[in-house]
Amino acid sequence: MKYFLVNLGCAMNLADSERIQTVLNGMEMQKTDKEEEADILGIVACSIRQKAIDKVHHKIHEWNSWKTNRSILTFVSGCILPEDKTKFLKKFDLLFHMKDLPQVPDMIRQYGVLTPLSGKMEAPSKILSEKNQTEDYFSQIAPTHTSKFEAFVPIQNGCDKFCTFCAVPYTRGREVSRSSIDILSEVEKLVLADYKSIVLLGQNVNSYGLDKQGQEISFAQLLREIGEIGIRSQKSFWTYFTSPHPRDMTTEVLTTIAKYPVLAKQIHLPLQSGDDKVLIKMNRNHNMDKYRDLIHQIRTILPEASVSTDFIVGFTGETEEQFERSAQAMHEFRYQMAYISPYSPRPGAASSRWEDDVPHQEKKRRFRILTEILEETSLAYNQQFIGKKIRVLVERLDRKEGYLSGRTEGKILVRFASYNQSLIGQFVHLHITSAVPYSMEGDLVDAD
Ligand code: SF4
Repeated sequence: MKYFLVNLGCAMNLADSERIQTVLNGMEMQKTDKEEEADILGIVACSIRQKAIDKVHHKIHEWNSWKTNRSILTFVSGCILPEDKTKFLKKFDLLFHMKDLPQVPDMIRQYGVLTPLSGKMEAPSKILSEKNQTEDYFSQIAPTHTSKFEAFVPIQNGCDKFCTFCAVPYTRGREVSRSSIDILSEVEKLVLADYKSIVLLGQNVNSYGLDKQGQEISFAQLLREIGEIGIRSQKSFWTYFTSPHPRDMTTEVLTTIAKYPVLAKQIHLPLQSGDDKVLIKMNRNHNMDKYRDLIHQIRTILPEASVSTDFIVGFTGETEEQFERSAQAMHEFRYQMAYISPYSPRPGAASSRWEDDVPHQEKKRRFRILTEILEETSLAYNQQFIGKKIRVLVERLDRKEGYLSGRTEGKILVRFASYNQSLIGQFVHLHITSAVPYSMEGDLVDAD
């Protein structure tokens, strides 16, 4: 039997789908990239973006139309708002919460996948109970990694911050930290299996442990333990984390990163707006003074670190003056990279009830202004590497014929001429020859 899986949304959903694959593989099913030949068709959905939800509806409509002449089972899981859940229940055979993943084989067996549609057994309920299940499905089920050199390790699920533009607290629930013993064991196995890039995942990674104070270690301690794994194993790898929240960023986290070579010198610190009043309206729980102080600490403690951020332009009620403060912040903090989003109301988020009053064209103008500033700062940052030899993790064949591409420790994209595909997944040294905003080119010097 074969299964086909569509993954939508962020890296957390990717980590979820790697665990769903483990469960289906454990039922002796085989993954296929051709949906036409699959017996089970599933989607790890994302309610955060309307486009992703539209895609789910499109897919299930298509799959259900196949049921007249094929016996298939459809399922949906992932990051789903209650109103989408109600609609999906009418269309999918099975909807499950990720924390119910260990029970999914039983549910699939109850459905009798191979029986014709007309004779299919009805499951007692299409949605699995949320009661009496463990929250920590991450530790119960190992992932089936899709990469041989980069792995995502969830350390926490859910969010307590309730930013007004975001629906994640309503889809994934409150923050729950995973056991540090399990996280460290997973990291150690990856390191010993020669993984080169390990990304700690969570909606608010640096509030790790705060929900279990007195029982769990802090985020800084977790990083320190990973640093010690690096020393004990004598392996070379880079550890990243995404996303942290400025409110919970501490000096101890930064000094820990500075101490251990396996903790990558790259910090993503979402700002969202450069105006204090907009930050209050977004319920971000930090102001510009706090953020400025953090950037100052990063530049002092980790002078070599690349720094990236997130901005929203045209948030509900954002005036020209308030936007100007975002533009000033973009100049002041000289980011290497920023993810800039014109505001669009997210179904389920608090701000979706407020008037989306900045015109579309004005959002586009503000987006363009921030992008132009970013291009300047990113170029200036990348140009400092011209003429230098730097280490890069090779990730893939580049779009440019005869080239490979990879990323520096600071996550800057670099391409270089080579047909040697065995370098993918390896560290190499490149001599940097040119730089543009967001990327660089270099010549291969040697492999690690
Ligand atoms: S944007 Fe805010 S509410 Fe959404 S996941 Fe991040 S911290 Fe939580």
